[in-house]
Amino acid sequence: MKRKACFLDRDGVVIVDKDYLAHPHEVVLTPNAAQSIKKLNDANYLVIIVSNQSGVARGYFPEDAINDVHERIRFLIDDEAKAVIDKFYYCPHHSKGAVAPYNIDCECRKPKLGMFQQAAQDFNLDIENSIMVGDKLSDIQAGNDFGCIKSFLVKTGHGLESLADYSTKKYPQLKFNVAGDLSEVVDQILRNK
Ligand SMILES: [Mg+2]
Ligand SMILES: [Zn+2]
Repeated sequence: MKRKACFLDRDGVVIVDKDYLAHPHEVVLTPNAAQSIKKLNDANYLVIIVSNQSGVARGYFPEDAINDVHERIRFLIDDEAKAVIDKFYYCPHHSKGAVAPYNIDCECRKPKLGMFQQAAQDFNLDIENSIMVGDKLSDIQAGNDFGCIKSFLVKTGHGLESLADYSTKKYPQLKFNVAGDLSEVVDQILRNK
């Protein structure tokens, strides 16, 4: 049976954005993130992280550090709300990076769809009823391009900058809803069911 997914950007959505966060002890969940993910679990959404982590290509931290951070996130959301993330995808690349083999123009860095397409291979996704949540316009672009029914821009993380950017430049093609944070997104999703 197909399952709808809620794709979540990591930094600025699930955890507080700290530029190029590399250590598990730096992980701080955003307000009510654990409880919100639990609500998505209970509503039978797959919860899938899609995260650009170009710090690897830039030489700021090794790829292993990402997995340590993700283990910490798993621990914290379980501890706080018995919440579960079904899968973490990340892109360690950047075309202007310094570290091989990561310094490539890849197909997975958002707004490109590589991570989403991998998720579609790994899960039997109901894409048309899936949702994207991010704090950058590149997140919104990816959600739109993948065919999600809705994409949400949250005001946490880089969200306010993204909104300012959106209003000053022309992005006629982007479609999204705005929410204060992840918990507001989840409340909107579940109310509209
Ligand atoms: Mg982000
Ligand atoms: Zn990539």
